[in-house]
Amino acid sequence: TPRYDVLVVGGGAAGCAVTASLLKRDPDLRIAIIEPREQHYYQPGWTLVGAGVFDRANTERAMSRCIPTKAQWIRAAVEAFDPEHQQVVLEDGSRIGYRSLVVCPGLSLDWDAIEGVRDSLGKFGVTSNYAFELAPYTWQLVQHLRHGRALFTQPPMPIKCAGAPQKAMYLSCDHWLKGSVLKDIQVDFCSAGAVLFGVAEFVPGLMRYVERYGAMLNFNNNLIAVDGPARKAWFKVTDGTGQSSTVEREFDLLHVVPPQHAPDFIRQSPLSNADGWFEAEHETLRHPRFGNIFSLGDVCSAPNAKTAAAVRKQAPVVAENVLSVLRGKGPQAIYDGYGSCPLTVEFGKVILAEFGYGGKLLPTFPLDPRVPRRLAWKLKTRWMPSIYFDMMLRGHEWLAEPKHLDFEPRPAEAVNACDF
Ligand code: FAD
Repeated sequence: TPRYDVLVVGGGAAGCAVTASLLKRDPDLRIAIIEPREQHYYQPGWTLVGAGVFDRANTERAMSRCIPTKAQWIRAAVEAFDPEHQQVVLEDGSRIGYRSLVVCPGLSLDWDAIEGVRDSLGKFGVTSNYAFELAPYTWQLVQHLRHGRALFTQPPMPIKCAGAPQKAMYLSCDHWLKGSVLKDIQVDFCSAGAVLFGVAEFVPGLMRYVERYGAMLNFNNNLIAVDGPARKAWFKVTDGTGQSSTVEREFDLLHVVPPQHAPDFIRQSPLSNADGWFEAEHETLRHPRFGNIFSLGDVCSAPNAKTAAAVRKQAPVVAENVLSVLRGKGPQAIYDGYGSCPLTVEFGKVILAEFGYGGKLLPTFPLDPRVPRRLAWKLKTRWMPSIYFDMMLRGHEWLAEPKHLDFEPRPAEAVNACDF
């Protein structure tokens, strides 16, 4: 059985960033990434593909160009974990050993939770910016719609980039407003949640745009079924007393965001919590029972906003802590829950929501973060792809230096008796 110092599960934003961060700190590390896909996606770009600002080709790169050259790429999918023997099991049954494991396979989109939607995606006016293949269709639909009814849905939390469902609505509405057709389009935002955005400070700024665009907010409205040819959608609507009923809505455009959960092989593993996500200590990102296993990115149960922005800050924390554990020490670097959601409220302006655990505002720039800004639009549309591909995935950690604990935590052996 091959054995690595560090084994990384998943070569997405988190897997590539943490590997680059580890190799920057120790170029001699024997490290491998297990990743089945040939393509790597810059998903934050899909909101802009759906609004005609980016070409989708700019959001896709060969995986071979994203995985750090000093890391071994194992082109396979992980099926199971055997933490007692410090091994993972691949789909073909073969095993790979590790001294420390980093788990970051992202999350699964559960299209099947919405009856009928699979048969309608990409036609009948049904689209989603949550898929590389579909985001260009959003922009086609937006350009062609001149009157009728547009529905934008949001599933129960947690989801990746919690602002993305409403970003799609704002940019579509702005296009219709500028084309003088918004007055003939009824826009509904149907969210399974009870608030527009989880961090209250940003809600008044967003409400100004909801009003400007005349969008109707429908909370506690969970999309459960779609009939594309009939152009109808059904929602489970829950009222204040907890009673629920089904509401039917017709549409000309339906932007769907599917429910999201941890991948099945994580849910079924000894590493998951009761909700299926990878169980992690929120500050160190280490598993509470298996002391040489860490996680970051969308699969991790830490209650931060599931974003690439979070990954940018998590990667150096996990890298430092993995190296501590390999040296027989406890993790020392801590993560403050930073995540960011650039809310594209109109073409040319973004409310850059940056916050940590408990919704604490953590703005990078000394400016009021609640204000929509042109600078933040430039950041999102011009600089972010390069910050992602050329900095984050390459281990350049500008403004992402981790904080440290001021006491020595439990060493790895105390948590999991494993031979290093
Ligand atoms: P991913 O990047 O999804 O990568 C997971 C990888 O694991 C994949 O390559 C997958 O093939 C691999 N994998 C899966 N299963 C296995 C297995 N069994 N074995 C091995 N490998 C496996 N973030 C922001 O910061 N700002 C934004 O504006 C923003 N907007 C977004 C808009 C949209 C529409 C979407 C969809 C996302 C957006 N995000 C945004 C979120 C961001 O893309 C994710 O948070 C980020 O990609 C998470 O990184 P990850 O590595 O955890 O998961």
